[in-house]
Amino acid sequence: MKLPQAFINRTALLLGDSFSLFVDALQLPAPTSIRINPAKIFHTPQLEQVPWSSRGYYLPERPLFTLDPLLHAGAYYVQEASSMFLEQIVKLYIPQAVKMLDLCAAPGGKTTHLLSLLHPDSLLVANEYVRSRAYILSENIQKWGHSNVLVSNNQPEDFTPLSSFFDAVLVDAPCSGEGMFRKDAGAIEEWSVANVEKCVARQRSLLKDVWPSLKNEGILIYSTCTYNRDENEHAVKWIMEELGAELLSVKIDEAWGVTPTDFGYRFYPHKTKGEGLFMAVLRKTNTEQCLRIKTDKKKISFTKQQLDVEPFIVQSQNYVFQNFGNKIIAFPSYQADSIQFLLKQLQVLQVGIFLMECKGKDLIPQAGLALSVSLNRTNCETAALDWHTALLYLRNENIQLPSSPKGFVLVCYKNKALGWVKNLGNRCNSLYPSEWRIRMTIPPDAIENSFLSKLLHE
Ligand code: SAM
Repeated sequence: MKLPQAFINRTALLLGDSFSLFVDALQLPAPTSIRINPAKIFHTPQLEQVPWSSRGYYLPERPLFTLDPLLHAGAYYVQEASSMFLEQIVKLYIPQAVKMLDLCAAPGGKTTHLLSLLHPDSLLVANEYVRSRAYILSENIQKWGHSNVLVSNNQPEDFTPLSSFFDAVLVDAPCSGEGMFRKDAGAIEEWSVANVEKCVARQRSLLKDVWPSLKNEGILIYSTCTYNRDENEHAVKWIMEELGAELLSVKIDEAWGVTPTDFGYRFYPHKTKGEGLFMAVLRKTNTEQCLRIKTDKKKISFTKQQLDVEPFIVQSQNYVFQNFGNKIIAFPSYQADSIQFLLKQLQVLQVGIFLMECKGKDLIPQAGLALSVSLNRTNCETAALDWHTALLYLRNENIQLPSSPKGFVLVCYKNKALGWVKNLGNRCNSLYPSEWRIRMTIPPDAIENSFLSKLLHE
C-alpha cells in the first residue's frame, strides 16, 4: 500500500510514536464483521463478538456474501466493526421514542443499526442526496423489515425549514476516507490536502443546513471515517462554538482500545479490531422556535383495495394504509401526523412498508411486504427453497414449485422470506424486483456456505 506523502507527514504528527504500529496495521487484511438483525435472527451466534456491540460479530474469514440468501433476506448486514460504536451512544442518550434523521444514510449501515436500536415507537428519516444511492438505501431498509422509517432523497438545505422537528440527528459525514485506506484503494487515490479542505467546507455547510431541524436539547451524533483533526475534533469544536452545543461523553471499556480525544472517540486499526472511525455526541444548547405540526383529527377511511391488504399485516389496527403512487403502503399510525407532514416537505422514496402494487383491479404483492417483520405469514402460501433454487430466484431466473398451490407464494430460504412468485403450475413468474437481482453468475462449483448457514440457522 503506497500512502500519499502528505498523509504520512500529517498522520505521523498526529500519532507520534505509534505511527509505525498504525502503518503496520494498514498492511494487515481488514477484519470481516456482520451485524445480525434481531428482528429476524433470534439466537446468539457462536462467534467472536464485537466488544462495543451486542449484535456485531467478527467472521474468521470473508465468505462470498452475494451467494448467501440470508443476506438478501435481511438476516444480517455486513458492516465494519468500528461503526457499531453507535450502539453505545444510542443506548445512553436516545432511549425514548424519537423522531430521528440520518442525514447521509446510504447504503444504510447505520440506518439499519438505528432501526434495531431505537425505541420501536420512533420514526427514522433516512436521507441520501445521491439518487442512485437513495434507491440502494431503500432496498437495504426494505430487507431489514422495519416499518417506522421514511426514505428521502433531499439536499441537506431541504431540512432547514423543518424547524426543531427532530429529537436526534446523525450526520455520518462524507469525508476524505483516510480510515478506509485498507479496504478501499480508491480512497488513497482520491486523497489530497485540497480534498480534505473541500470535505471540511462540505461538512460545515451540511451541518449548518440541518442544524435548525434539530430541537433544542436534541442529540447530534457526528461521525467520519477519517483521521485528520480538521474533519473531526475541529468540526466538533466548530459545532459547539458556532452552532451552539455541548459535548457529551460515552462510557468506554479500556479493553476495547477506543481512543478518547478532546472532542470525541477515535478508532485506530492498530488499537481496535476495525477500520478508522471518529464519532462524537453533542447536545444542542441554543434556543429556537418549535415547529408545530397541525394534527388532522379527520377519521381515516380506507378504500376497498386498502382494506384487502390488511390481513397481510400483523396488528394491522396499528397501521395507516395509504396509496403512494401506484402502490399501497402501511406505516405506524402513531407517527401518522409526522409522516403526512414529511410527505409534503420532502422528496420521499419510501414510507413504511410497500405492500401491494395496484395493476387495474389486481393487487400484486411487493418485496417489501415479503421482507417485512410485520408480514402475517398465516395468511400466505409459503414455499421453502433450497440454496441453489434460492439463488436462481434471487437472480430472477424462473423456478418451479410443482407442489405449491397456484397464485402468489412467499418463497423462503431457511424460513427467512426472500420475496414472492406467482405460481402458474408449470412455472413461476418472479416478483423479485429486477433492480435487486444478483448479477453475479453462480460458479458451477459453488456450494452452500455451510459456515454462514449453520451460524445463522436456528
Ligand atoms: N451512513 C452510511 C452508512 O452507514 O452506510 C454511510 C454514509 S457515507 C459516509 C456519506 C454519504 O453522504 C454518502 O452516501 C454520500 O453520497 C453522501 N453525501 C456526499 N456528499 C454529500 C453532501 N454534500 N450532502 C449530503 N450528503 C452527501
